[in-house]
Amino acid sequence: MFETTAEVSCPHCGETILLFLDLSVESQSYIEDCSVCCQPMTVSYSAHDGELSGVSVEAAS
Ligand SMILES: [Zn+2]
Repeated sequence: MFETTAEVSCPHCGETILLFLDLSVESQSYIEDCSVCCQPMTVSYSAHDGELSGVSVEAAS
C-alpha cells in the first residue's frame, strides 16, 4: 500500500485540508468537495516510486 496524506489550501475558502492520496497511481486528478466549505475542487497529483512528487488543487467549475 502506498498511501499518504497531503495538506493543501482550499482554493475557495483558504482553509487547510487534508487529502488522502493513493501513490500506487502515478498521476491522477479528481474532483473532491472541500470538507470545510463543501465547494468542489480539482485535485491533481503525481507520484514517483511511491513518493509524492507534486500535488495541486484548483477550483472546479
Ligand atoms: Zn473550502
